[in-house]
Amino acid sequence: MPLVPLEQVRDEILRAVSVLEPIEVPLADAHGLVLAEAVSTSEDVPPFANTAMDGYAVRACDTSGASTDAPVSLKVVGELPAGRAPDRVVGPGEAIRIMTGAPIPEGADAIVMVERTRIEEGVGSAVLVEVEAKPGDHVRPAGGDLTQGQQVFPAGAVLSGAHLGVLASVGASTVQVHPRPKVGVLSTGDELVEAGPPGSSAPSLGPGQIRDSNRPMLLAIARESGFEPIDLGVARDDEASIVATLEDAFARCDAVLTSGGVSVGDYDYVKAALERLGRLEWRQVAIKPAKPLAFGVVSDTPVFGLPGNPVSSLVSFELFARPAILKLAGHEHTLRPEVTARAAHDFARKPDGKVHLDRVHVQWERDSYVATSTGRQESNVLSATASANGFALIPDGDGIREGESVQVMLLS
Ligand code: AMP
Ligand code: MG
Repeated sequence: MPLVPLEQVRDEILRAVSVLEPIEVPLADAHGLVLAEAVSTSEDVPPFANTAMDGYAVRACDTSGASTDAPVSLKVVGELPAGRAPDRVVGPGEAIRIMTGAPIPEGADAIVMVERTRIEEGVGSAVLVEVEAKPGDHVRPAGGDLTQGQQVFPAGAVLSGAHLGVLASVGASTVQVHPRPKVGVLSTGDELVEAGPPGSSAPSLGPGQIRDSNRPMLLAIARESGFEPIDLGVARDDEASIVATLEDAFARCDAVLTSGGVSVGDYDYVKAALERLGRLEWRQVAIKPAKPLAFGVVSDTPVFGLPGNPVSSLVSFELFARPAILKLAGHEHTLRPEVTARAAHDFARKPDGKVHLDRVHVQWERDSYVATSTGRQESNVLSATASANGFALIPDGDGIREGESVQVMLLS
């Protein structure tokens, strides 16, 4: 079986999956989702001209020549807090005390900020203006942010908290988006022991048994990626039970992640199960870790047969499953960003036809990113991977020397 380059396998997978059909969701559920159609506004934002400052609404011409030494006295004829409609016009020689966000009253064409005024002593309801105002000073016009009929966001926008704020400001209560993919996560292996119910002490391990670490990890990173994780539990090394679990999963998941059982061992039943269920692509990817990968689309649901070793599972999720599921969710940009970093030490390796993905911590130091290994790099040593925020891509060859440039895929 030839080794296939990472990019080729990823492209094949990305081509094999399609974007989920749009649905309408309430704004409150749309965070992180991708807009399926452009949104336009039927309202101006802000809806009316209002003041950007606490101060006095005035007729600019009344303040002509005003200065600290020669202030102009205006009669204060009312008060306008935010949320109240003006009930009187500002006439010549008059001012209205006004608070940020309140509508500009008729007659006024400028705001003098309160810091540039004094209360006139001994004179009831008069204000001394110490600055000449120009028409429009501190006035936020109606539609100054968005105007009625304007496109607010195009299809494809990824909805952040600020996007939701803008959509709320134009009165959108629902949006057309691609749904949040439901991602089933299944562990496989006779050796796996499941954690007990929350709060209970961990079940003891029998001979040959280990604890299931992939499922909690994959459920969490699926959620972190903006997907809805669905716990499919642990399947034993038995083709029929894996098939049954997967068949049930296809009915309620948009994508399925399995771990284990895709290597060349005698008990690697995930591969066999996927073969039985439909189209299976099995690849030996030219990378280390995470060489074996099973992939298939069954009943329109992509299934990613990730390797069992926890580090390999994580790497395979990042390289193949995450981008493909982001595509399901309608994302245009599905790949993690990369930076060029300086190697903090030698990254030693031997030629083997593979790209090595060393787990590193990368940080900005003075004038460049610096990449430092997070520790042991064996595919079963998950503890050293937990603090990584990047994968250093060490090309085939003899490695990278301290101080040389290394390409790093950022994980956050
Ligand atoms: P496999 O590909 O099924 O042969 O698994 C490869 C290695 O990963 C074996 O050492 C398994 O015990 C281990 N492994 C498989 N699944 C898990 C899991 N869910 N959690 C921790 N280790 C696992
Ligand atoms: Mg196994």
